[in-house]
Amino acid sequence: MSVVTSQSQVCVVVGAGHAGSALAVQLRKEGWAGRIVLIGEESHLPYHRPPLSKAVLAGEKTIDAILLRPQTHYAASGVELRLGERVVALNRSARTLQLSTGEELHYDFLALCTGTFPRHLPDAPALEGVFQLRTADDAVRIRAAAGVGRRAVIVGGGYIGLEVAAVLVSQGLQVTVLEAASRLLRRVASPVISAFFADLHARHGVKVLTSVAGVELLGDGHVTGVRETTGTVHAADLVIVGIGVLPETVLANKSGLEVENGIVVDEYARTSDPFIYAAGDCTLHPSARYGTRLRLESVQNALDQARVAAANICGKNVLYDALPWFWSDQFDTKLQSAGLLLDHEHHVVRGDVRNAEGKGFSVFYLRGDIMIAADCVNRAKEFITCKRLISERIRVNVAALVDEHCSVDDFAASEN
Ligand code: NAP
Repeated sequence: MSVVTSQSQVCVVVGAGHAGSALAVQLRKEGWAGRIVLIGEESHLPYHRPPLSKAVLAGEKTIDAILLRPQTHYAASGVELRLGERVVALNRSARTLQLSTGEELHYDFLALCTGTFPRHLPDAPALEGVFQLRTADDAVRIRAAAGVGRRAVIVGGGYIGLEVAAVLVSQGLQVTVLEAASRLLRRVASPVISAFFADLHARHGVKVLTSVAGVELLGDGHVTGVRETTGTVHAADLVIVGIGVLPETVLANKSGLEVENGIVVDEYARTSDPFIYAAGDCTLHPSARYGTRLRLESVQNALDQARVAAANICGKNVLYDALPWFWSDQFDTKLQSAGLLLDHEHHVVRGDVRNAEGKGFSVFYLRGDIMIAADCVNRAKEFITCKRLISERIRVNVAALVDEHCSVDDFAASEN
């Protein structure tokens, strides 16, 4: 669909996270001539989310230090910020939105960048001292509750749980992680990486328990502990629940857009309504690269898909099929991952996983001599090379991958 944008048109972006902020600013760069309205429920200017479980929790950075863009940038791009406001209804036939303030807002194009919300422990009582970490205010609240010597129990051994554990134990708290699955990071990482992080945390004094079948919060007013279904009780002054997230699809659902595990979009980031696009964690999108539909929870996906959506709202025809990549910082360790572990046949390791601190290691996941995915621990140069090899499906020299005497320049097979 070709669109000539005019000054009288309005594009409304709902959700002011990584995707929404990028989409709004990118719209102007793509030539959108009309109004751009960016609506965010939080009162803060849009900020980087990854530092919440790291530098903000550690007290090394304030919220003002992690803003995605200064306020002046939105003004210069002609983006109207509506912060601290919530969209409560979407009327697709009238092309209007109703805000929590009662105001009605017309749109010509709408972009849903509503992200995700944290899963709750089923039937958990409301107790002081129990936290989730999704917003900047959450991080500040946890920091205020975390004093030296306090006992923190973290439910969930995903990225949130482990990054929070690393910060809190480094700050002198006693930290226990309770993970339901048989290994940490099961949803997102291979067994090699799970074992590495279990060992890393144990060496730093975190008590890590896996295969914890179920938990119950204890306390009266304030949390006092967490009881496993086996009866074992872990005393706690604070509890952080990091058991995954769900896509925020209420507006899409109620207005009859196609929704499954996320708002269904096509490869142009367009929903089942041609005037509504969506980007980021909330979308379920087709991936030609993987031959399946994906819902990705990552900054990379939010930014890349937002740029595609902005271009297509402005009448271009840009396909989204970027290579997924992620990172996680825990203690002095930086894990960088490229590609998804959907269809590899085997893996090889470069470096020594058991003696990795400082020197790092990489795990390469292969189908034949094609690299499908890579996890690089403290190996930024290898990560950058692998991203290209995976993205361009370049055949690799498997012997060179595992031989530390070979450089990254030798990773590609010579007959490519
Ligand atoms: P997550 O990666 O889905 O991990 C949650 C973990 O909790 C899973 O291993 C899950 O096991 C486990 N779990 C579920 N129910 C449980 C229960 N009742 N008791 C104990 N464990 C339970 O999600 P997250 O760590 O909460 O992170 C939330 C979001 O933030 C994700 O999108 C994540 O990618 C993002 N994030 C990313 C980074 C990063 O990229 N560095 C850092 C922080 C956060 P099952 O899989 O068996 O359910």
